[in-house]
Amino acid sequence: MTLNLDNAEVEIRESRLGSITGYCGTAGDLCRQSKSGNLGEQERSFSQCTSCSSVTAICQLSMIQDAAVVNHAPLGCAGDFCEFNFCNRSGQVKRGLRLKNANLISSNLREEEVIYGGAAKLEEAVREAKERFHPKVIFITASCASGIIGDDLQGLSEQLSEVLGLPVIPVFCEGFRSKVWATGFDAAFHAILSRVVKPARQKQPDLINVINFWGEDIFSDLFGKIGLKANYVVPFSTVDQLERLSEAAATVQVCSTLGTYLAAGLEQQFGVPEVKAPPPYGISGTDAWLRELGRIVGRVPQVEQLIADSRASIAPELDELRQTLKGRTVFISAGAVHGHSIICLLKELRLHVLGGCVWHHDQWFDNKDARADSLDHLISQYGDVDFGICNKQNFELVNLLNRLRPDLFIVRHHGMAVWGGKLGIPTFLIGDEHFGLGYQGLLNYGRKIADTLSNPALVKNLAEHTKLPYTNWWLNQEPYSFLRNRDTLSKGEHASASNFPKGGEQ
Ligand code: SF4
Repeated sequence: MTLNLDNAEVEIRESRLGSITGYCGTAGDLCRQSKSGNLGEQERSFSQCTSCSSVTAICQLSMIQDAAVVNHAPLGCAGDFCEFNFCNRSGQVKRGLRLKNANLISSNLREEEVIYGGAAKLEEAVREAKERFHPKVIFITASCASGIIGDDLQGLSEQLSEVLGLPVIPVFCEGFRSKVWATGFDAAFHAILSRVVKPARQKQPDLINVINFWGEDIFSDLFGKIGLKANYVVPFSTVDQLERLSEAAATVQVCSTLGTYLAAGLEQQFGVPEVKAPPPYGISGTDAWLRELGRIVGRVPQVEQLIADSRASIAPELDELRQTLKGRTVFISAGAVHGHSIICLLKELRLHVLGGCVWHHDQWFDNKDARADSLDHLISQYGDVDFGICNKQNFELVNLLNRLRPDLFIVRHHGMAVWGGKLGIPTFLIGDEHFGLGYQGLLNYGRKIADTLSNPALVKNLAEHTKLPYTNWWLNQEPYSFLRNRDTLSKGEHASASNFPKGGEQ
């Protein structure tokens, strides 16, 4: 697949990656349907609110330390600014950076601008961002409102770049553009690839781009053991670092849901090889990922030594944790590839995974390489699992949890974690995506799970004093009842949510 970096706008995931947001069945069936080209979207006839592409674009761009973001939008779209600021500051602490707020401004579109156009408000906000933050680059992120009124972000950005003497770059990430909010990552990376990254001045054979969110710095130590250096992008990077992404020897990503576009674009446009392998979670995924990295950078013996040493060092405690956790039941909700990765890790720990639901599904990634198919890796290495796609539809999740009543609920996003507590289910929120990565990640997760399971008193107490907003009318229906076509799209081995036990009375 070739990315079109000449176009100002990114192609959305639905058309580029065949992405869907509704499905109920098994991981194996989903994987088979993706490979056969028969997978179709299962639309919902009812849906609660969810995230949007604008938010995911801003989440990446607002943490570039010397850039600024102007969100050309009504103030309501800035509802997540405080979260980005929190992530920015907590990440700065983890990475040992100077503590400061994210450089974020809203153009605050109101009714008047929606009628007469928002160019003046946008210019005012961009000038304010320059004055206040002295950034090297200003990104303008679009919103539903700016898209609907048709403000010419491309033309306005070019004019402002000239007048202000710095790059002003539009990012086309209107919320209505795509049902898959991960398209916003692509929109942000499209802007970086097409307007920020420069051709390599000098290649750095030991430098590895790491596409990630805001986890602990574990790669400096891991890569240091094989003579490599980690170049974390995009959060907490600088504009200079981004300009020189082309100089790296390879690109890795902690999650292809996040990094598919940037990794593929760096390879296509600047010749930086992407490590095409399963995600580095669980032993077999980490082995394969490290071996592919070692092959690309010419460090095969060092990588083999690292694998042997690491596996030997975790073996005794891993055995103990497996004995402790064996057979305990777990349900997981997370972004697509991170969800696949964590299921691998849980199965490696011998937990019984009752099922998972992820926020969307990409039928393939931009590299179109089978080795990077994380869902296929999960099934081939660890077996099948009941699986759904629920784009943060809390009503479906609560129904599922209420039926399954797992010993543990693991969830990636805090807005959904509260439901585990309200149902009296010990819940573990995955804040740091690096926590479970690599060989050490198995031990980290095993210890955390053992700890979480050891004392459920708090959540039991919470559940006793909580009245759910959902009635029996809903809890006694199948969790994915509102998916249209779910019986007609695939009759084959498609599991039905009716396989789940009936919901309990509330
Ligand atoms: S861009 Fe659209 S979907 Fe996103 S927060 Fe604003 S109005 Fe909502």
